[in-house]
Amino acid sequence: MKRFVYADNAATTPVSREVIEAMTPIFETSWGNPSSLHEKGREAKDILDDARERIAKVFNCDSSEIYFTSCGTESDNWAIRGAAMRMKAKGKTHIVTSAIEHHAVLHTCKALEKEGFTVDYVGVDADGIVNLDELRSLVTEKTALVTVMYANNEVGTIEPIEEIVEIAHAKGALMFTDAVQAVGNVDIDLSKLKVDMLSLSGHKIHAPKGIGMLYIRKGVVINNLIEGGGQERRKRAGTENLPYIVGLCRALEIAKENLPELDEVAKKRDRLIEGLTKIPYSKLNGHRTLRLAGNANVGFEFIEGESLLLWLDIAGICASTGSACSTASLEPSHVLIAMGVPHEKAHGSLRLTISRETTDEDIDYIIENVTSVVEKLRNMSPLWEDVVKREQTV
Ligand SMILES: *Cc1c(COP(=O)(O)O)cnc(C)c1O
Repeated sequence: MKRFVYADNAATTPVSREVIEAMTPIFETSWGNPSSLHEKGREAKDILDDARERIAKVFNCDSSEIYFTSCGTESDNWAIRGAAMRMKAKGKTHIVTSAIEHHAVLHTCKALEKEGFTVDYVGVDADGIVNLDELRSLVTEKTALVTVMYANNEVGTIEPIEEIVEIAHAKGALMFTDAVQAVGNVDIDLSKLKVDMLSLSGHKIHAPKGIGMLYIRKGVVINNLIEGGGQERRKRAGTENLPYIVGLCRALEIAKENLPELDEVAKKRDRLIEGLTKIPYSKLNGHRTLRLAGNANVGFEFIEGESLLLWLDIAGICASTGSACSTASLEPSHVLIAMGVPHEKAHGSLRLTISRETTDEDIDYIIENVTSVVEKLRNMSPLWEDVVKREQTV
């Protein structure tokens, strides 16, 4: 029987009922502008302050270190550009990032290259883990910023962020991490994790699209990206999106409460990976254990990922070949290429990102359908014919 299975939670997540319920009274009643001095404004300001305090508790940081933005992309742009421009004044014009970053980071770095900064892209191993020895050799006294993602959005690999922070700080560089995929998947305690900046996005954790956050450690000063009014302690102008800020706050609290349940999600993920890698000529992409609880990314030889997606869509399964942002282009994933996956194999990859909502029946349904679609597509492929012939002769 046909089902509907949403397995693309790395692209976006549905807004949860609790988040909608937390936001509704702000739309209906507390719609004031937090900058207004009258009663309606003060009411909004109190709610804003409360949300910031509660988020600070989630991350064990100070509320003055939290800045609300419009999305993960803005937070990434601000952190990188703001730090680069600030450090330039001290003669530091070098940036180190990784080859597997989200385009919000990679394209910001590319733009800065055109503006006179030098950028080095540290490589990763076959599992997608940043090469720490190479990183050590790249970071120098000229380095303004090291920016490495906490967890990768395509293959789900979790990076050794503590070590990366140490390497950056040893040379006096700032350290920023794009934690958009890690938040809700990893317990992040900012009193222990010594990153200078960290970004996150609402819509990856069951809050709406169009709300993000940047954490900036006390004492770290970066330039503004958006100029205007005096909001966010004069660091990020624009009237605060209070309903979404409250939604983000609730989503972060729920995500933290639910961390213990990730073991269950990881068990389902492992069963999914086990089922999919039983298919001949398939391979898991990303680290076996140091990976996000909901991420399964498997490569299948002799097929096109896009064809696989279309057939799965017909079966009611929402999946992805890599990141949602690169599906418009037919370029193979820069992440898989950086991991050393050959071009032709990178084209046949499938990313399934499950959640707490995913049931055991959903997992069975995915395995069944991927297995039959891969077989169907291979039977139409001349390359596959050769493989079958070769196998028959041995
Ligand atoms: C989704 C995502 C972003 C962008 O966040 P938006 O809120 O969609 O702009 C940045 N980095 C990573 C790793 C992501 O997965």
